[in-house]
Amino acid sequence: MTSDAAPTPMMAQYIEIKAANPDCLLFYRMGDFYELFFDDAAEASRALGIALTKRGKHLGEDIPMAGVPIHAADDYLQKLISLGHRVAVCEQLEDPAEAKKRGAKSVVKRDVVRLVTPGTITEEALLEPGRANYLMTVSRIGSPDHPEFALAWADLSTGVFRTAAVAAERVEAEIAAVEPSEIVVPDSMFNDAAFARPLKRFGRAVRPEPQALFDGSTAEARLCRFFSVATLEGFGRFSRAELSAAAALIAYLGKTQLAAKPMLERPVQISAGSIMEIDPATRASLELTSTLSGKRQGSLLATIDRTVMGGGARLLAARLAAPLTDGQAIAARQDAVACLVDTPDLRRSMRKQLAGLPDAERALSRLALGRGGPRDLAAVRDGLAAALSLAEDLPGDLPEELRAARDALRALPEKLAADLAAHLVDAPPHYKRDGGFVREGAIPDLDAARALGENSRRVIAELESRYVAETGIRALRIKYNNVLGYFVEVSEANAKTLMAGETAATFVHRQTMANAMRFSSEELSGLEARIAGAASEALAIEFTCFDKLSAAVLESAEALRRGAEALALLDVSAALAEIAVEAAWARPKVDDTRAFAIEGGRHPVVEAALKVGSGEPFIANDCDLSPKNAGEKGAIWLLTGPNMGGKSTFLRQNAIIAVLAQIGAFVPAARAHVGVVDRLFSRVGASDDLAEGRSTFMVEMVETAAILNQAGERSLVILDEIGRGTATYDGLSLAFATVEHLHEANGCRALFATHFHEMTALARRLPRISNATMRVKEYKGEVIFLHEVTDGTADRSYGIQVAKLAGLPASVVKRARQVLTELERGGSQARRTAFIDDLPLFSVAMDRQAAEAEKPAEDPHADLAAAVAGLDPDAMSPKAALEELYRLKGLI
Ligand code: ADP
Repeated sequence: MTSDAAPTPMMAQYIEIKAANPDCLLFYRMGDFYELFFDDAAEASRALGIALTKRGKHLGEDIPMAGVPIHAADDYLQKLISLGHRVAVCEQLEDPAEAKKRGAKSVVKRDVVRLVTPGTITEEALLEPGRANYLMTVSRIGSPDHPEFALAWADLSTGVFRTAAVAAERVEAEIAAVEPSEIVVPDSMFNDAAFARPLKRFGRAVRPEPQALFDGSTAEARLCRFFSVATLEGFGRFSRAELSAAAALIAYLGKTQLAAKPMLERPVQISAGSIMEIDPATRASLELTSTLSGKRQGSLLATIDRTVMGGGARLLAARLAAPLTDGQAIAARQDAVACLVDTPDLRRSMRKQLAGLPDAERALSRLALGRGGPRDLAAVRDGLAAALSLAEDLPGDLPEELRAARDALRALPEKLAADLAAHLVDAPPHYKRDGGFVREGAIPDLDAARALGENSRRVIAELESRYVAETGIRALRIKYNNVLGYFVEVSEANAKTLMAGETAATFVHRQTMANAMRFSSEELSGLEARIAGAASEALAIEFTCFDKLSAAVLESAEALRRGAEALALLDVSAALAEIAVEAAWARPKVDDTRAFAIEGGRHPVVEAALKVGSGEPFIANDCDLSPKNAGEKGAIWLLTGPNMGGKSTFLRQNAIIAVLAQIGAFVPAARAHVGVVDRLFSRVGASDDLAEGRSTFMVEMVETAAILNQAGERSLVILDEIGRGTATYDGLSLAFATVEHLHEANGCRALFATHFHEMTALARRLPRISNATMRVKEYKGEVIFLHEVTDGTADRSYGIQVAKLAGLPASVVKRARQVLTELERGGSQARRTAFIDDLPLFSVAMDRQAAEAEKPAEDPHADLAAAVAGLDPDAMSPKAALEELYRLKGLI
């Protein structure tokens, strides 16, 4: 069977194309299907749950095959991309009829037209409406001793394009801030052990590419070519690393989009220092855009997002990811929000007009890539119409940001709006291939062609009646299918009548079915040709119209993009005004001081959760870290209080207020004064890195080290329970030294929650430290959390009471109290150890005893007795003794 060894011409073509795209699943176009062969077929069948079949043989073996119908391709692509695959889409580049003309053995010309990767998708079905989809490149340039780094990122679906030079130690943080879907790095960096850990965090999103893509010497020329400019000077002053990253991004787009040229805006440089720096651990612990468990629901963004359109949601997410540090820019955003807070009617009508608008930004990008359809034109039409009418409605007197947005809307091309409205039907079909999207009356030639088609159909109906009359066969029907075209169908019995007599010459037999026979006639074929001609003429006219409208849209692309940005800005400003009114937020004063004074601050997510949950009110709390005298450094609060008292909530809410203030939003507080925070650090809760082989304690120390090394006088630091993960004395010593360092060396504003009450003594020694505590009430041995922050220190941790609330067995609670009482008597380590040795062993009998003892019949003064037994009068100051006396009284 030697003939088996030679592949068919088609298979030879497939193998060649597949060899050029070894790391992609190859979608090979065959008529109405994309087919996958060999290993790709097996992989796709597994991933998509589609049938694995065979097609022909290769080297004597069956070729495994799996197929995906064109119309459902988007869904399958989405699944494959989300599973981390890359897909090469290989299309037929000519009409199969052309290939046939070249000879029976000729194969249709095919080639890959596009690589689908997570960072380069543009299809509506593959994208999340409110989320940007960023492709990012990371470049490293210069000598190994002094490398320069830069990032470039672009959203192909909207055209956004940014660059930033970053310091080596900020690379990971800045990547994380953008949350890209795909990160292209030079393979030298990918293989560099120093980047193994930071890059690993981004998992399969990281894509190594040859160093040549990042070539610095040709970067500028490549960028100039892409943007058709002679020099980049007009765009800004980019560093060499930024140019390399931006040019690599363009090159990677060339590699994946091949012939199609994406429409990107000019790169906008994000300069260092203009953005509040937030490291990945802080971002995660504050749950800014996703919760610690990775969900969007329950994050700050999801809780405060009141935007009504995709573009607005994306802009809000981008703002939250990058709070500003420039007071003026912040004030400009605040002015826009404040204006809409003060004019509820305008806000309401604006939001109503914006709601339900199609995503014109993304439609525009698809049209530019040649992937657009009639619905994308309609999206631009609807967006344009709404934008123009909105621009009319906006009043004359507006703050700067809103005025600029209105001007951008007024500059939108009205003629284009009119053209689109005149040509497109109201609700066009998804694909242009079947036509039917051009409005009746828009193009006379099209109307004529359509009328001809319509007319012929009527003629066919007349013909059918005539044939019925002529043959006397009442059941005679004219039907249509793709194989025969139009044909006459009669039953087998009637066929005899048809084939005999006068009509025999008219009808030519074509096909015999189980209980019917099919015939053609000359007249019918003539009509069919007319109908087909009319249909293809109509389609050709519609295609031309589509191309003209697309070209007109792209001609105005710049204005349209600005318009879309303006709509997003209006949406975000109105949304921030909406939440401010709805949740009673206030406009914070933001300036260049070191102030941080929050009155009646709240945690927006916890507050919202309480509202739908227990219905209990959220207790608002003040926080004041402002310098006591102007010009001094900010203060540090040491916060003590029992677990569950609300410490972490308080810590996080203040960090969140700083973030919200600096994105230009109102904040969940009665009043707030925030001196711009340049870097925000938060170590709250365990962000477990255990899978990475680090213990919780190790992670805590690594993060604390980063804070102590980086925080400056303008930073805000939030630290929770440092030193918990180790032995008491180790932990206490570390916590102690950390606070001293923050006070003496960093000079930052800080909130430090601790369960080491011993630490509160620091406040007496260091001038900028004060003590605060979460108030609790004790009632009959139970603890009640008031969630109120007050001056002073917690007297106890109430750990045992909290454990009791958590449902620990009564016997364990009782036993813990016993042990605690003994331990609290104090004494040397040796004495304590001896005491533990002497304690009678825990037994089930005791367990029962304890359970009995927990009953209400118990001695009502047991707690009191235990507390008194635990006192050491010699070690108490008169004030402490007095306080203790009050506490004991409270136990009765
Ligand atoms: P801690 O860090 O002290 O252990 P948390 O901050 O985790 O305590 O708070 C525990 C719970 O108490 C929260 O889940 C929330 O339901 C509630 N809580 C915290 N702060 C407040 C507050 N200010 N008002 C009302 N409830 C609060």
